[in-house]
Amino acid sequence: MRPLYLDYNATAPMDLRVFEAMRPYFLEEVGNAGSRTHVYGQRAKDAVDQARKQIADLLGARSDEIIFTSGATESNNLALLGLVQYGITSGRKHVLTSSIEHKSVLEPMDRMKEAGFTVEILPVTTGGFVELSAVRERLRSDTMLVSVMHGNNETGVLQPVQEIGELLADTKTLFHVDAAQTFGKEVEVLRKLNCDFISISAHKICGPKGVGALYARRRGGQRRPLTPLFVGGGQEMGLRPGTLPVPLIVGLGMAAEIGGREFRERRKAATKLRKKFLLDLTAVEHVINGDSAKAQPHTVNVSFPGVDSEALMMAVRSELAFSNGAACTSANYSLSHVLKAMGLKDDMITSAVRISWGPGVVEIPAEPLLNAVRSLRL
Ligand code: PMP
Repeated sequence: MRPLYLDYNATAPMDLRVFEAMRPYFLEEVGNAGSRTHVYGQRAKDAVDQARKQIADLLGARSDEIIFTSGATESNNLALLGLVQYGITSGRKHVLTSSIEHKSVLEPMDRMKEAGFTVEILPVTTGGFVELSAVRERLRSDTMLVSVMHGNNETGVLQPVQEIGELLADTKTLFHVDAAQTFGKEVEVLRKLNCDFISISAHKICGPKGVGALYARRRGGQRRPLTPLFVGGGQEMGLRPGTLPVPLIVGLGMAAEIGGREFRERRKAATKLRKKFLLDLTAVEHVINGDSAKAQPHTVNVSFPGVDSEALMMAVRSELAFSNGAACTSANYSLSHVLKAMGLKDDMITSAVRISWGPGVVEIPAEPLLNAVRSLRL
């Protein structure tokens, strides 16, 4: 028996329908989507075109606004570092981002600083969200870019991206949204969103690991201000050259299509589990991190005062598998920058765990967790 997997925000298990859709593209449809001289290439290209449309449809975008990448990390890098040249030539070198972004936004921002940009970090409330007023107050005539994530991966708290998009609508400031945690889930908001760039990833919505996309809007059919990070090959309109991973792209397309069809039921099921789980947690002393009313329904970040999260995870590890932060930083454990930015004291951060679920999880057995909390507190 393996423990119940409750770390969907790190990665979600693949949907069998996605796997079946990908299968022929590993074994039979062996062409390179860039090959024009035979039917194999044509069929691979048709499959990529279809996936591009499936993703564009879910975002309310056009197919030629979707650039395939290796995942949201790369999409974030392309959106940020790909704008450095534009910022320099246009003389607009002011950038805004938030303190709770994923490292794949924060570290490119450090590079932008090194390139001479002024990067201002927006604070968040104790509830874990950026306030619109914080953006408004810092906006300048030379603000080239605002980058704010949609759903926070550690707390699930949704950011006011719609409002920020409206604020920026009549300005020259570009808007990037890291939607790794919300693509295929918060479908309505992303479809209407007024923004220039959206980063998405397949493996957070039961698709394959290693593929994602950057939505890069064409403002009035203009050329986009992006400079590619790689060169050689010309694929993806020259913005992301390299042979396309056709099976993975087919998987991303299928995961997007299924997400578009099923997100309402998934949300309903996740909400029901969340309600029950929050109720179960009341049996022990705990603090929910992040504004519960703004959190995605499949995520709970909770601190158990006096209980070390590492000890807690060890105590329940034969029954439940969850985490105490983002997977990308859990290898070299340091205090969560997200919880820190929300003003949590160190002991509340070291006692915090993130439990996240999704399709396939029908129950969250709280008892092992509650028992472990009780015994570790003794
Ligand atoms: N941004 C956020 C908010 C994420 O949660 C993740 C995944 N941990 C990423 C970016 C990176 O996505 P990927 O794994 O596709 O590179």
